[in-house]
Formats: sequence, structure tokens, C-alpha cells
Amino acid sequence: MISSDDVSEEELENETPSISEAPAEFVENPPDDLICQICCYVLREPHVTDCCGQHLCKSCLDSSVNLFTSIKACPYCRENNFKHLIYKPYQRKINELMVYCKNKSQGCSDILKFKDLEQHVAKANKAGCLYTTLECPSGCYTELLRKDMDEHLKEACPNRYVTCEHCDEEMMWRDLEDHYDGCGKYPVLCPRSCADGMFIREQLAEHEKQCPNMVVECPFQEAGCSDEITRAQLTNHLESNMADHLGKLMTAYSQLKCEFQSLKINYEKIQTMENIFHLMLKKK
Ligand SMILES: [Zn+2]
Ligand SMILES: [Zn+2]
Ligand SMILES: [Zn+2]
Ligand SMILES: [Zn+2]
Ligand SMILES: [Zn+2]
Ligand SMILES: [Zn+2]
Ligand SMILES: [Zn+2]
Repeated sequence: MISSDDVSEEELENETPSISEAPAEFVENPPDDLICQICCYVLREPHVTDCCGQHLCKSCLDSSVNLFTSIKACPYCRENNFKHLIYKPYQRKINELMVYCKNKSQGCSDILKFKDLEQHVAKANKAGCLYTTLECPSGCYTELLRKDMDEHLKEACPNRYVTCEHCDEEMMWRDLEDHYDGCGKYPVLCPRSCADGMFIREQLAEHEKQCPNMVVECPFQEAGCSDEITRAQLTNHLESNMADHLGKLMTAYSQLKCEFQSLKINYEKIQTMENIFHLMLKKK
């Protein structure tokens, strides 16, 4: 006999775990009376019909409506206008059956009650199955098992926060390489490859004032020396080019002297003209 407590038209809220795509794998073959005669699988949301008293899945009954005629016939005995109601005792029995974790193929060896399965594998359940696949919460789009997530977030996630070991600035790991290109405290070699070794980038401008490989002007540039020399070569350059520098200096001096002479002549001409002008004014 079916008691009124056992059947209901309301949903079984806590007693029916939500049914997800993959069917559960039962540890032992479930008893025949818990198998749906339509889909031949363990009853999903067991209902009982009032025509033939069959226990069938709710979803199997739902699909028994003829889409063309809208007539609902019992999928087992073909009776029209039959009714079906939730049958709680079977759901309770199924809930107690032992199943393998759905993540068995990923490595989970847990065996649990059917009613606990969905909660066990739920992504949102922080204490749930270690073999549930999750997306990295830091937004790097990596998918990995719950058991590997902590290590990923600490060691591998490109979005994890790290500190630049040179300047102590905090940033995402994926930005670190770009940061190094501009980090003021980053160790760099002198771009002129001098033997002074490594500097922090900020000190480079200061170093250039003493770098032996920096190109400097010869003090005799004004006199016409256009040799390209480095700071380290300067003393040697001055010593070995003394005659040349003196020659250039003399040439420049002669040129200046000539220019000065012609300026002087011009100046004297102007002065003479000025004197004549003054005398003419006085005579008036
Ligand atoms: Zn079924
Ligand atoms: Zn029937
Ligand atoms: Zn598991
Ligand atoms: Zn990540
Ligand atoms: Zn830095
Ligand atoms: Zn240098
Ligand atoms: Zn020179």
C-alpha cells in the first residue's frame, strides 16, 4: 500500500539531490525495484503512476507527453489522463546507496552516500572534493584541481602578487618583466662596456660623468682638433698630439690675428670719420 506520507505533489527539497549530467556510479548494483523501466537507470526523482503503479523517473514521465496531440499517456501502460506523484521512500533508499565520487577518474577514491555526492563535488564547497576542477579565482583562466589550487596561487599563477627584489615594489608576476625594463634599482652593465662592472640603473647618469669609455671633447676642439676620444684616452691623446695641437693653435692664432688686424683698421677708419664729423659740427 502507498501511504499518503510517501507520495506528494510537492518537490522533495532536501531529499532529492540535484541531478547533474553525469550519472553516478554505484558501488553495488542497485536493487531492481529502484531501476526505472523506461530509461533502465537508477530512478531519478522517483514518481509512481496511478494507472499501473510503476515507479518511473520524473524526467521519463515528463517526456511522455505527445508533442503533437498534447495528450499525456502513461509511458509504461499507455493509459491516458493518468496521474503520477513523487514517491519518497525510493528516493530515501537511493539517497543511502553508496556511490563512487564523480571525480574518480581524476584521482578521488572517496565512496559516499548518493545524497552527499552533489555537495561533495560542488565547486563552491570549499571543503569539498579535492579533485573537483576549478577555475583560478585570480582570473588567469587556468583550470585545475582543487588540491592544486593553493600551490598555483602561490607559485605559478601569472596574476599572483610578487615583490620586485630590487626596489620592493609590489605587482602582479605577469608585469614583472616589463617592470624590470624601467626599474630604477635594476642592476645594469655600463652601456659603454667599461670595466666598472654593474650599477643600479638610477646611478647610470652619475656614472657617465666618470665613465672611462664616455666620448669627451678634446680641449683643443676650438683650435680645430676633431678627434673622437674617450675619457680614458684623453691624457694619452694630449701627450701624443702636442705638436699637432700646438700647430692647430698657431694656425688659429694667426687667423685671429689677421681678423683682429682688419677689425682694427676698420675701427681706425670709423674713428677718423667720427673725428672729421665732430670738427665739422664745431665749425658750424
Ligand atoms: Zn527513467
Ligand atoms: Zn501506467
Ligand atoms: Zn571526490
Ligand atoms: Zn591563476
Ligand atoms: Zn623594481
Ligand atoms: Zn662605464
Ligand atoms: Zn685633440
